[in-house]
Amino acid sequence: MVRKPSRLPTRIDFGADGRQFGALQLPHSVHRSAYGWLPVPIACVRNGEGPTVPLLSVEHGDEYEDQITLSKLIGGLEPAAVSGRIILLPMAGFPAGNAGLRTSPIDGLNLNRVFPGDSDGTPTPALAHYIDNVLMPMADYLIDLHSGGSSLMYLPTAILGGAQMTAEVRQARLELGLVFGDPYGFFFPGGQGGNATTSASAASHGVISIGTEMGEAVR
Ligand SMILES: [Zn+2]
Repeated sequence: MVRKPSRLPTRIDFGADGRQFGALQLPHSVHRSAYGWLPVPIACVRNGEGPTVPLLSVEHGDEYEDQITLSKLIGGLEPAAVSGRIILLPMAGFPAGNAGLRTSPIDGLNLNRVFPGDSDGTPTPALAHYIDNVLMPMADYLIDLHSGGSSLMYLPTAILGGAQMTAEVRQARLELGLVFGDPYGFFFPGGQGGNATTSASAASHGVISIGTEMGEAVR
C-alpha cells in the first residue's frame, strides 16, 4: 500500500550532525487563521552513523513527568554523547498536551488509538501519520514514555509489548527494557488499542519498541 506523504513540514534536517531544535507544523485551519498551524516541538541530536531512536512523550496530554524528562534531556544531550541519531518529541500530542488533557480538545481523539493515522485527517490522526510514515521508517528502536495522568497510578514500569511477536523480537524488547532500567517490566497482551497503537505501528515497521509507565495520577 502506498502511504500518503505527511503534511507536517519541519526545518529539522534529520541527516545533519549536531543538535537541532524546531517544530513540526501541524495544519489547523480555524476561523481566525485559515492557513494556521500548531507548533509541535521536535529535536534531533545526531552524531555520525548508528541506530536511530525516536523518544516520544505526551501522546496523552495529562502525563507531565515524561515531557519534563525529555525536555531536560534535549537541553543536556550533547552530540558527542550520541552514536547515531536520537529524535525527541516531548509533546507528541501537542493539542492534548497544551490543554493538559488525555485526549485532544480539537478532535476528541486519543493519539495512542489512531495509528497508522491519516495525513488528511484532523490533528490527532495527522500526528499519528507523521510518526508512522516519517519517524518509524527511520527508526531502529523507539521508546514511548507514558505516566499515570489523571486516572492511573503506576509503579515505574516498562511495557514490553503485546501478544504477537517472534522470540527474537521478544528478546530484543526485553533487552531494551533492561537498558531503560525501570524496576518493573512486563509483556502486556491485552490492552484496548489493538493495532491502533504506537507499539503496533512500531511492530509493523520492524522497529524494536517499548513503552514506559512512570508516576502517579495528577492530583
Ligand atoms: Zn499515556
